[in-house]
Amino acid sequence: MLSTIIYRSQLSESVSPERLQALVDHSSLRNAAIEVTGILLLDGQHFFQVLEGSMEAVLTVYQRISQDDRHFNLIELMRDYAPARRFGHAGMALFDLRDYPQHKVVDALLERVTLSDERIRHDRVVKFLRSFVEGRDKETFIAIEQADRWQLTAPRAFLSQPTWQPAPDQRCEFALQPIVDVASRRIVSCEALIRGPKGASPAEYFAQLHESERYQADLHSKSYAFQLAGHLDLREQTISVNLLPMSLVVIEDAVEYLIQQIRHQGLRPEQVVVEVTEDEVISRFDAFQSAVQQLKAAGISLALDDFGAGFAGLSLLADFQPDKVKIDRKLITDIHCSGPRQAIVRAIITCCQALEITVIAEGVEKIEEWLWLEGAGVRYFQGFLFARPALNTLPPISWPERRPL
Ligand code: C2E
Ligand code: MN
Ligand code: MN
Repeated sequence: MLSTIIYRSQLSESVSPERLQALVDHSSLRNAAIEVTGILLLDGQHFFQVLEGSMEAVLTVYQRISQDDRHFNLIELMRDYAPARRFGHAGMALFDLRDYPQHKVVDALLERVTLSDERIRHDRVVKFLRSFVEGRDKETFIAIEQADRWQLTAPRAFLSQPTWQPAPDQRCEFALQPIVDVASRRIVSCEALIRGPKGASPAEYFAQLHESERYQADLHSKSYAFQLAGHLDLREQTISVNLLPMSLVVIEDAVEYLIQQIRHQGLRPEQVVVEVTEDEVISRFDAFQSAVQQLKAAGISLALDDFGAGFAGLSLLADFQPDKVKIDRKLITDIHCSGPRQAIVRAIITCCQALEITVIAEGVEKIEEWLWLEGAGVRYFQGFLFARPALNTLPPISWPERRPL
């Protein structure tokens, strides 16, 4: 089946026109052997390439291209299937935008396209090409620095560490993972993640409980989370806890119980954030509303967790505006090289800005992901890049810093 990949990248400084032509000629030959055709656009600073062929062949070529150090910041913009090649002539054409006057460049490009006029009008690949040629894509393009210009500081302890030993009869414990403001090197919140005996994951912990006791266990476990937080020297930081919305719905006086536990540990409700996941909120939206009102009335903040992973997405915000939105790791992973993820996350950021909702990116593992997100305007981050969760204590944090020249 005929497939297409489009990517865009930035040229490394050192590519001369002669070397470029040689590169294209060389790869044209190699590509012809596996029937990969397309076009390589160049505006002096960026490449924009369309690769067409069988998915296997196109991926092989794309893999090889990704390794090439003559360019960086590769972003895959599109991966799709089509009935016919847009550039049916054999080989890979090189198209330098600077060879044409501004008003002629689009026509010159379209002349190379081997589709019917009708197809050209509706073809996404052609639309992508036009957007690049006309410079429209620059409005949304975020140029990031090369990751090797950055390094991580040695992990550093932050708040004073609790000397905390859970009681032997405690049925669960909590690991803490910080949410950080990298630009000002501050911790904004510590998230408490539940752990079963011997460090079992939340899924394992809840699975071994009978369904009838799950909500009760979830709610009551929070007293341990607050106890742990009470031992941290929290100042402007908040403590974030995860709860199934149903734990607040089916258990009588659940919110009152939470508030009582918070105060009992010497904390204020304003220092607490309750995180609920998108999917759970939708499934029992009406029932959850009164719990939301009680939490807000007490001064507790709400965060929508794993945002973008569920079925509702942005439409959920039409009826329910939390204080914070945590963008799901699936959207964050490799965001620096995925055009679709970038478009979705930009939309989430724009929407949350308009609604004054704080955006947190979760699951950040790579410097490049963090660089792109910072460039897009995200300020708060959580992920293994900065710190992994640590049992009963706040882990030390690694901060990105520019490498000395
Ligand atoms: P979550 O609230 O979205 O928490 C983040 C999860 O992602 C944690 O897994 C954390 O260890 C992991 N994580 C954080 N940064 C990274 C990263 O950079 N890369 C990767 N690969 N993973 C990262 P954990 O602790 O296994 O928790 C899983 C989920 O269990 C949580 O997702 C939360 O929805 C739920 N959960 C945790 N504690 C509780 C609780 O007390 N009650 C309820 N109802 N659910 C909880
Ligand atoms: Mn969470
Ligand atoms: Mn999450």
